[in-house]
Amino acid sequence: MQAVKIVGVGQIEVKDVPIPVPGDNEVLVKLKASALCRSDLHLYHGESVFEDSDIDGSTITPGHEPCGVVEKVGKNVQSVKPGDRVAVYLAYGCSSCSYCLAGDTMLCDKFRCMGFDLDGGHADYLVTPEYNCLPLPDEMTFLQGAVSTDVGGTLYTACRELGVDGTQTVVIFGIGPMGCGGVLMAKGYGAKVIAIDVDPQRLKLAQELGADIVINPKETDSVAEIKRLTKGMGADVAIDCTGSQIAQNNALDCVKPRGKVGFIGESKSCTINPSDQFIRKLIDLKGLWYFNRADWNEITDFIIRNNVAIEKISSHTFPIEEAAEAFKLFDSRVTQKVVFLWD
Ligand SMILES: [Zn+2]
Ligand SMILES: [Zn+2]
Repeated sequence: MQAVKIVGVGQIEVKDVPIPVPGDNEVLVKLKASALCRSDLHLYHGESVFEDSDIDGSTITPGHEPCGVVEKVGKNVQSVKPGDRVAVYLAYGCSSCSYCLAGDTMLCDKFRCMGFDLDGGHADYLVTPEYNCLPLPDEMTFLQGAVSTDVGGTLYTACRELGVDGTQTVVIFGIGPMGCGGVLMAKGYGAKVIAIDVDPQRLKLAQELGADIVINPKETDSVAEIKRLTKGMGADVAIDCTGSQIAQNNALDCVKPRGKVGFIGESKSCTINPSDQFIRKLIDLKGLWYFNRADWNEITDFIIRNNVAIEKISSHTFPIEEAAEAFKLFDSRVTQKVVFLWD
């Protein structure tokens, strides 16, 4: 079978490797869709996403947002059978600590991530524990399933945890794939959505996805404009998908007292003024990262029932043979999600 390998900085090779054999509790999945993620590019740029990882990235098949059809199952596998359509949950844990038992496998001490620590979905097949197979509803395409994991799952959870509803104004900072997911999910909840980005193309896309108002902070003071649009109050909820210190500060500043802020965009440092921006506004600030495994059915139900056009998060698709081109294009930041598709 073919598998993508990041063999050096900026170097992608599609290699011929043996089809993996599932163990007793494992499942062999034939891939149908596998989305690229900004975090795949850390490896592509020679950096590691998880700093404590001692694994040689060049030997691992990347891809942690995959979807496919079960091809073969190990002898102890009960919950899936050949022919089942599945998305794959990215987190592997010890399966016995309180986080694993609660479905928050990514919080486990022994957390390992598909596509970084173990072979992932940018390949014709992958092997995964039975536990990581998430049922893909018939109403969803494989591409929709793939972008419903990392993006859909994270942004659905973000909106739910931040208490988004149809009475609220929600500001989304950064209209890359995560921000697009934020616009779609917040609209799914019925909120009024304000999208912020410095790129006019991305703002146009945000409007197509349903954003009610778009603001380009290069042209307009976004915090002042959000205050003006909310009669001086500020927004109810702000979600930062950029990881930029400016946007993180603007997110804190644009919400009203008792407002809620979510940080999704990864970053290493940020300076804030806790008293003025946070403490005396009684702000709730939440870190948001992926989703609890038990929420998968709720996430897909929400997408189906509210006709969330989750597939619009993907702007380009490629066959796996063209992986080098796909990575290069995705790295140029002119696209939304790039997804590998199989027939
Ligand atoms: Zn991802
Ligand atoms: Zn655990």
